[in-house]
Amino acid sequence: MTGEAIARCQVLGRTLLDKHGLGEWTLDFQNLDYDYLTGEILDRDRQPDGICDFGEKLIVISWRMDQRGFRQTMLHEMAHALRGVPGHDDEWGKIALRIGYSRKQLDRQFFCLAREKANL
Ligand SMILES: [Zn+2]
Repeated sequence: MTGEAIARCQVLGRTLLDKHGLGEWTLDFQNLDYDYLTGEILDRDRQPDGICDFGEKLIVISWRMDQRGFRQTMLHEMAHALRGVPGHDDEWGKIALRIGYSRKQLDRQFFCLAREKANL
């Protein structure tokens, strides 16, 4: 995404976080071609579209994400934040659908990392 697109998505992301009770959470855009914590270069099929970092209360979206994909990626990660634990279980699915995430995204090999820093 360009700087301008990122700025627009920052505003949209902030609105979504506040709307769903995640006012303490923040949003960042990063190059996720590298491992978020170790800096290791990742193969394309291991590069996440988004990350939900419970420890930092931070959602990270890949720079590669286009503007159309941004909203769904954001909602996907927000469902993790609201669920409070990593994983795509039924409870996560219910929350995701409630806030507007389309499960079809998961069928297209959507890849995300929801994790707690303490576990690494
Ligand atoms: Zn996920």
